[in-house]
Amino acid sequence: MTQPITTLIHHPYRAPEGFEAPQPGVFKASTVFFPSVAAMRSREWKDKSAYTYGLHGTPTTYALEERLCTLEGGLQCLLAPSGLSAVALVALGLLKQGDEVLLPDNAYSPNKALAEGELKGWGITHRTYDPMDPADLSTKMSDRTRLVWVEAAGSVTLEFPDLPTLVQLAKQAGAWVALDNTWGAGLAFQPFDLLPDVSDNLGVDISVHALTKYPSGGGDVLMGSVITRDVRLHLRLKHAHMRLGLGVGANDAEAVLRSLPSMPLRYREHDETTRILAQWCQTREEFAQVLHPALGDSPGHAHWKALCKNGPGGAAGLFSVVLDARFDPQKVDAFCDALRVFRLGYSWGGPISLVVPYDLASMRTVWPRHLAEGTVVRFAIGLEAVEDLQADIDHALSALR
Ligand SMILES: *Cc1c(COP(=O)(O)O)cnc(C)c1O
Repeated sequence: MTQPITTLIHHPYRAPEGFEAPQPGVFKASTVFFPSVAAMRSREWKDKSAYTYGLHGTPTTYALEERLCTLEGGLQCLLAPSGLSAVALVALGLLKQGDEVLLPDNAYSPNKALAEGELKGWGITHRTYDPMDPADLSTKMSDRTRLVWVEAAGSVTLEFPDLPTLVQLAKQAGAWVALDNTWGAGLAFQPFDLLPDVSDNLGVDISVHALTKYPSGGGDVLMGSVITRDVRLHLRLKHAHMRLGLGVGANDAEAVLRSLPSMPLRYREHDETTRILAQWCQTREEFAQVLHPALGDSPGHAHWKALCKNGPGGAAGLFSVVLDARFDPQKVDAFCDALRVFRLGYSWGGPISLVVPYDLASMRTVWPRHLAEGTVVRFAIGLEAVEDLQADIDHALSALR
């Protein structure tokens, strides 16, 4: 007779089929069951034709991958446990000893740290280029350059580069172009169709997205995606993804699926509040400079306008200020400490506004020539009422006096 423990595990009840509801179900698995050894041997893990193992995909992760492809205009997607692991996957999947990677000087800092750390140790070199000077990228490309990173807008200082020109230069020289698309999020511009009026559809090869930010929208999920439009490039990255054992939790994937439908609304709201605050900050003499690509005098404004002209012209929810050089860094820390609605924190894309002071000199190979002297503070705008955020900054500025 079957023992109770076995009955508990193999009990034959099956829920009826036909349960349909607004959100897809959450499927969790290490392995799946195969009906026969023959099926086990013949199933393909590299496409979405079947299920084999949790790391290779479940109905939940396949649904999220397909929706992200739709969002960004790509055809294939890989999910990774954080935005940074998605960034790292690109390097680990594509580069080998002797290759060189080029990074904009305003790249997401941990991407530069990966190049300076592990990649260097493995004999993969890197150079940084001035993202606002395409000629500098040209000069630094060599026959060893295999991968060029681009970012629009740039991290912390939010310069908007001439993205189509950078992409064109890198591709002409035979390198892969990877975009960190976290800021644009698939809403501000289409990374695979940068110039939709040009017949050859100029676009990046790879779009990496920290889903931690706007797609999650809650400040409670870490996840990243790597989207492509070329199946051979995707398969190369997918093999690395498999061998590195990267996967995401089903509940996290479900949380992102639940937030995606409201993302365009949230993005628009973050954008609107951010522009109002950035413009108000321009009126305050304590700030030597306000950095936000939709402001007419912000570096790369014309490039932002040319690329993000569709719809309302998305500009995300970030802006930075340069506090005048007469305030020493301790004073700037006191300003940040005095904020109450803004919380001190990295990341962004959730409902709560965040602030970080940066020691920019330690993050750049050269001080950006368009930047005023002073201390950079970055604001990430949440979904609070703009009046309350403005009053908070206004009040905290009294800490400078
Ligand atoms: C946050 C962020 C990442 C990394 O995402 P994590 O999920 O925090 O690892 C990468 N690039 C950019 C531009 C980011 O803002």
